[in-house]
Amino acid sequence: MAPGALAWSKEGHIMTCQIAQALLEPEAAEAVRNLLPDYVNGDLSALCTWPDQIRHWYKYRWTSSLHFIDTPDEACTFDYSRDCHDPHGLQDMCVAGAIKNFTSQLSHYGEGSSDRRYNLTEALLFLSHFMGDIHQPLHVGFTSDEGGNTIELHWFRHKSNLHHVWDREIILTAAADFYTKDMDLLLEDIKGNFTDGVWADDVSSWKECNDLLTCPNKYASESISIACKWGYKGAKPGSTLADEYFNSRMPIAMKRIAQGGVRLSMILNRVFGHTHGKMSAAT
Ligand SMILES: [Zn+2]
Repeated sequence: MAPGALAWSKEGHIMTCQIAQALLEPEAAEAVRNLLPDYVNGDLSALCTWPDQIRHWYKYRWTSSLHFIDTPDEACTFDYSRDCHDPHGLQDMCVAGAIKNFTSQLSHYGEGSSDRRYNLTEALLFLSHFMGDIHQPLHVGFTSDEGGNTIELHWFRHKSNLHHVWDREIILTAAADFYTKDMDLLLEDIKGNFTDGVWADDVSSWKECNDLLTCPNKYASESISIACKWGYKGAKPGSTLADEYFNSRMPIAMKRIAQGGVRLSMILNRVFGHTHGKMSAAT
């Protein structure tokens, strides 16, 4: 197992899922509880990193391209038909396609257990994980540097790479500098920012989605745009990223975690909600 090698960190995924679960309406909360295995006691965040743990297992090798999107170098745009494929060109095999697929599978939840084509527990875990990944800007990166994975640099005094800076370093440095390494305090601050803080007015626009199956395209476009404007900028191979980079990027990384969580709750509330026409109804 090589956890974390290509992943929005454990911490980022856990916070995304904790944010989402706290925003679930009763019906969605119940569906999530029903789908989760008993041993997690109803805690979705306990299994949000599962897709990273199994991606190299033989049985799940097909999922490894579902964690990211490679876009053309310097294009700074995402185009589903151009970019959403695996390295062999198989269409839909990218994080936006995966969200689309697992959302669609979960929308059959209310139809009972007669449809055995799908494992809805796995679908829930994959969807929850990939909603984190698609919001990590460098998960929608350039092809030649593998989303920043091959850009080796220093994060303050230790060696790292640009992808990992966004997966984990920014979060861990924030936790150490401002929250005595207490992830719960960091999470409370993120939640406070969108309940009655700086992002409070933006939350309703984050949740706007006319078609659940195409909204992931918007999230991917935002990510590659942020990757170009803030991620790659000033992060050449061999450079040292420190205070200036950290201070200006930290609020962006925190906002992406919040957006991932808020939007995951929006999707789960709609696929598990009782309203008719839930797949296409406006927010
Ligand atoms: Zn991942």
